[in-house]
Amino acid sequence: MFKKFESLAELKISIYLWVIPCIVIALVSNTLLQNIDGANKFDFMINTTLSIWFAISWVLLYKRKFIRFIEYSNLALVSFYHLTTFFDSVRNYMAISGGSLGDFIIWMPIINLFFFLTLGTKRGLYFSIFIFLTTFIIGITYLNGLSAISIDSLGQFYFAYLVYIIVLYYAQHVFKTYADLEMFKKHAFIDSLTGIANRLRIDQWLEKKLSGLKEKQGHFSIIFFDIDHFKDVNDQFGHKVGDEVLAELAKLVKEQLSHQESFGRWGGEEFIIISNTIGEETRKLAEHLRKAVESHDFKGAGKITGSFGVTHAHPGDTIDSLLNRVDKGLYQSKDRGRNTISFI
Ligand code: GH3
Ligand code: MG
Ligand code: MG
Repeated sequence: MFKKFESLAELKISIYLWVIPCIVIALVSNTLLQNIDGANKFDFMINTTLSIWFAISWVLLYKRKFIRFIEYSNLALVSFYHLTTFFDSVRNYMAISGGSLGDFIIWMPIINLFFFLTLGTKRGLYFSIFIFLTTFIIGITYLNGLSAISIDSLGQFYFAYLVYIIVLYYAQHVFKTYADLEMFKKHAFIDSLTGIANRLRIDQWLEKKLSGLKEKQGHFSIIFFDIDHFKDVNDQFGHKVGDEVLAELAKLVKEQLSHQESFGRWGGEEFIIISNTIGEETRKLAEHLRKAVESHDFKGAGKITGSFGVTHAHPGDTIDSLLNRVDKGLYQSKDRGRNTISFI
């Protein structure tokens, strides 16, 4: 229940999946607790139809099937239920026995939430105003024959209705801003071409690792690699294929790594791996990656290779000193004929 949501659509479905069973329970208990006599046959029919439909829609939403259709059907049913119950209450109850509106008004906020969830902020606002005006016209039509208690109850209902519309309208704005912010935050740290961490994220990781090292909480190494003669790939096959190679390479390397490693794109065709290993173990990992790249057949470009620099963090290192050292290792590999590893 407390997971982070990947999208607004997923969040919406999650709300429906939690709310619909509660509504079904309320409808069923309402039906069971009322005597099924002539006077509330109408209620019984509506409650049963709604319960069955909501149960079906829950299953379909759970399976992520016909989502839009379910949303609109529920909207139509809920609106119909809302208006008919209101009409029934004003005409057959208030106008005759002079009491206040029935229990159903407890559901008014959630009904409005349904409007906003299904239709979005703007259309949700228009639709809820339309429903509000319809209830208002019904109330005005029967106003003459109503008692003071009934008029008071109607007045409270209308004011509360307007308050809910205003609150939900602004709540949707707040929520959307929050969701956008979460999205920006997520994408601020992801490289859009390869889907792996970007430089900003790598910087954060390195800072954290270096401060851990200062407090003597574990050592780490970095592996830095650059594709050999990548300009030729672009020149020969085009920039688009070059982009695809970068994405494929990122996927390939990611598949070779364990949770001990963090992996990101430093820029261009340069990638970085932060590993909790040191020494021989890191060298073996880099060698494994070099071989994986060398032996892979890239779609549209065939064979490519990479040159690797490997170093482990020393006490007193900064991000710059660490990267300068590993960069030197990388350039040693280039000087030594590429497709190799230099430990520095
Ligand atoms: P070397 O073996 O010395 O590394 O040779 P190289 O051709 O790979 O040279 P270098 O690393 O200096 O050049 C990198 C090239 O990568 C230059 C640029 O056109 C290309 N490149 C950088 N970023 C991207 C990208 O996002 N997409 C594509 N398609 N190409 C890129
Ligand atoms: Mg380069
Ligand atoms: Mg290169």
